[in-house]
Amino acid sequence: MYKGIAISKGIAIGQAYILDRTKFCILQQKLNPDTVEAEVNRFRSAIEKTKLQMQETKKRTTEVADKYAIILDTYTLLLEDDILVNDTIEKIRNERMNAEWAVTETLEKFTHLFNNINDEYLKGKKDDLELVVHGIIRNLIGHSQESLSEIQKPVVLITHTLSPSDTLLIPRNLVLGLATEAGGKTSHVGIFASALGIPGVVGVKGLSSQVNSGDPVVIDGIDGHVIVNPSKKLLEHYESKRTSYKIYEEKLLDNIDRPAETVDGFQVRLLANIESAHEIKTLRKFGAEGVGLYRTEFLYMSSQNIPSEGELYENFKKIAQELAPLPVVIRTLDIGMDKQLHMFSQDDEDNPALGLRGIRMSLAYPDQFIVQLKAILKASLYGDVKILYPMVCDVAEVVQANETLEKIKEEFRLEQIPFNEDIEVGAMIETPSSAICADLLLKEVDFISIGTNDLIQYLLAVDRINENVAHLYKPFHPAVLKTLKRVFEAAKAAGKKVSICGELGGDPMATLFLLGLGNLTDLSMDPHSIPKVKKIICQSSMEEAKQIADHVLSLGSADEINNFLGEEMWKRFPSDFTRDAKFAENIISENE
Ligand code: PEP
Ligand code: MG
Repeated sequence: MYKGIAISKGIAIGQAYILDRTKFCILQQKLNPDTVEAEVNRFRSAIEKTKLQMQETKKRTTEVADKYAIILDTYTLLLEDDILVNDTIEKIRNERMNAEWAVTETLEKFTHLFNNINDEYLKGKKDDLELVVHGIIRNLIGHSQESLSEIQKPVVLITHTLSPSDTLLIPRNLVLGLATEAGGKTSHVGIFASALGIPGVVGVKGLSSQVNSGDPVVIDGIDGHVIVNPSKKLLEHYESKRTSYKIYEEKLLDNIDRPAETVDGFQVRLLANIESAHEIKTLRKFGAEGVGLYRTEFLYMSSQNIPSEGELYENFKKIAQELAPLPVVIRTLDIGMDKQLHMFSQDDEDNPALGLRGIRMSLAYPDQFIVQLKAILKASLYGDVKILYPMVCDVAEVVQANETLEKIKEEFRLEQIPFNEDIEVGAMIETPSSAICADLLLKEVDFISIGTNDLIQYLLAVDRINENVAHLYKPFHPAVLKTLKRVFEAAKAAGKKVSICGELGGDPMATLFLLGLGNLTDLSMDPHSIPKVKKIICQSSMEEAKQIADHVLSLGSADEINNFLGEEMWKRFPSDFTRDAKFAENIISENE
């Protein structure tokens, strides 16, 4: 059994199809001086062809893959990159080198450079560059796209990595599941696989050398396992796990139309985190009661230019109108760290997680902030729109942001531009300072929303995207839970709303603890998580949730808390918190 990172829930069982993307046979040739310019032109044509192929792929992008198309834009930009193109052309000219060899050398130079920089963001760029260069080489050597279209029967796809074009070409009906050696939880393969509902596991090191095409394989996208040549007993186990998971998923949808209300009448609104207007359909399917976090950065990422005020307004208005009277919380730009935008040329920062992120960036360069606030204010007429400031560390930041907002409101009043005068403004609590000073922040805002993804990273000093410290990223660390309690108490004292919009909000293991804090009003999460969280709330009482929260807060370590919650949840919801992973491990040890 191979362990990886589960990125898309479900079980797939089938024959392996190994997609080998990396092997090219490239010959080195010295050019005749009179063929050099023709070679440069051949290189340029290969680049153009690669661009066209990416545009074609983008056209085929369905709405569900919308976020995914953004990545293709990044790739097209790389194809226009001066260093990639000019360095290679220089090599062809100066060293009379054939284009395939020259572009491979350019790639090697950058791979070497990136390898020596300890920066996760740049490491990601290295993979992008590699995929783009392989596309060019394929066109240079006339190597047709190695075919996903050759797949004629249902298979489980195993590969080192998948390019965006590969992923978009996946024949949905024939790819039962997929596993890759590269990638992390938030990689594009993951986004796409879960959007299409294909069970998937990524980050399974060394997998493709352990499997042959045709081998029977199981992909367990629930617990993040890949099993090659499973024994009869294991196969039976996974067949029944697959069936029960399907039945279970469908059954969860039974509750989508009812509110999330405890047996003793305490209601929590379950909202969706979205990155694009296209997600409204998914949001409805899973019964979300509005949008608790609209990450607007992705709007910028999906466009070549900075979106205008008019474009932003239309986008916000559409979501507000479609969901009215349900709430739509629009977060102002939170770029920085792993979310960089090519149109804002930011200085390279040694430590971007602690750099110019979120509200800091908006206040340092207010132009875009003002454009966003204007668009949000105008859209506020069409629904229950709220504003949310990200990455707040200091009350002064909120005061300054609110002053900017007030100035715009004043300008609108003078120009008789209508907007909702009662629009609510909130601050994200995702840094230790904002958590500790939540009481002070609450004086300046109408509500707070806890971004646990960043809060955990900053409280525990553990980079949220670095796999080397992933084992130290502990959502159930006592420091995290005590901090949450403190923030909830501050909101209660201020008589204002507190919600959670980080991943912890959608983690069913955390639901009763969060509920037990007593004054939880909204939970915002990936829409797919809503049905299970709702089920837990509907079948529990506030009384028992409080007991659980009290007990959890008395425990001294993340392990103890995990064990306690694991046991409690399994006892209460045996069909929702199975011990399948342990069961499978037992079978393996019996067998091997
Ligand atoms: C968070 O940090 O928890 C959050 C919701 O914001 P993001 O994941 O976009 O940083
Ligand atoms: Mg955040």
